[in-house]
Amino acid sequence: MIVNRIVYNPLLHYRFRVSRAQGSRLWDDADHELLDFTSGWNVTNLGWNHPEVNEALIRQIERNTYAPMWTADAVQEEYAAALTAAYPGVDTVLRVTGGTEANEVAIKLARAATGRRRIIGFKNSYHGQLFASLALGYVPEYVEAIAPLVPEFVQLDYPQAMGDEAADKATLSSFKRRLTDELEGREVAAMVIEPGIITGWGDGRVAVEGFVELVRELTAKYGTLMIVDEVGSGFSRMGKLFGIQRYEGVKPDIVALAKAIANGAAGLGAVLTRAELVEPTIPKAKYTSTFGWMPPACAAALKTLQIHQRDRVWEQAEMSSQRLQQGLRKELEPLGVRVQGMGLVVRVDLTQCSTEPGALSTAVENECLKQGLAVIQLGADVLQLMPACTVTEADLDEGMGVLSEAIRTSAERI
Ligand code: PMP
Repeated sequence: MIVNRIVYNPLLHYRFRVSRAQGSRLWDDADHELLDFTSGWNVTNLGWNHPEVNEALIRQIERNTYAPMWTADAVQEEYAAALTAAYPGVDTVLRVTGGTEANEVAIKLARAATGRRRIIGFKNSYHGQLFASLALGYVPEYVEAIAPLVPEFVQLDYPQAMGDEAADKATLSSFKRRLTDELEGREVAAMVIEPGIITGWGDGRVAVEGFVELVRELTAKYGTLMIVDEVGSGFSRMGKLFGIQRYEGVKPDIVALAKAIANGAAGLGAVLTRAELVEPTIPKAKYTSTFGWMPPACAAALKTLQIHQRDRVWEQAEMSSQRLQQGLRKELEPLGVRVQGMGLVVRVDLTQCSTEPGALSTAVENECLKQGLAVIQLGADVLQLMPACTVTEADLDEGMGVLSEAIRTSAERI
């Protein structure tokens, strides 16, 4: 799809032009106001156009906009110190521009550090748009035209929680057997997971309990590095500053960050790791990125991190998550809608009420837009709700009301 000379992914096709945005509200160019339940897909976690973040960006632009790859601006060093102190078990940063690049560099680092080649991901997960990141989680028809991707990638089935304790335990045991088979004697360089959820595919599938701990235990046992993609789960989204903090004592070897890192004020990504792991790989992997860590983006990111820490935004996110999940369950479970979530990524599964795949979610999205609520779906009968982590109770309740009514009326119509 091309609109006004700009190319759009058919799944993330063009919706409307944003004329302004503030907090949890967006306006299109007809000045139609929308309550936003997308955060631009986990980007504006503090709400759109946060004044303190924008101010920090502008102040840095007035001071200096660029530092070449062989130098550093002081704000980059200040941000590296603050970010590594905030994340469990890391002390070093690689400067990149966004989420895809963060995952590609993480994989490069893992191969260079271990001397192994094999990488494990999950079917129908999303980690980016380039060859290795696509190889981690592609749907076959999505990549047919550009194959071959990168060799030595393996995709496992995701051990999704179904809300039934016995079934979930059985899922974890069979996943353990499958993963052990894959790791044992296979010389796997790295396994890439999100922290117990898939945030990047438009469906918010949550893993069975024990999944993250099991991955850490088994990867450590077989000398495989654990890469955690926190591009979607970072910065309060999971009800913790970082998603991994939901799991006591779990420390990944490599972490990919982007999206909410600068709250949408600028493009930025980061790979976090330990110096002892990355140092020997530097001569072999030669990491550089011309626009990785532009100083204004770092100033915005530093302010973003400080606001999350000062206001303990993750606590607001967790409270809103409970309110949203409980409210939606009460309204929608009687209609056969399944609600599942972790932090402020809430999955609303309409498959039970839909006759033609994708028809209901599309109708619901359109009806919500008409009624002043921005939600997003990718053509399956699932909505992934991601309000700002700072959303007010009144806005949550308003959005829940619009969504429930849109589902009810659209299900009757279809
Ligand atoms: N990982 C996850 C979990 C994501 O959600 C995304 C973006 N949707 C990416 C990686 C890729 O990030 P970017 O679009 O910044 O390249």
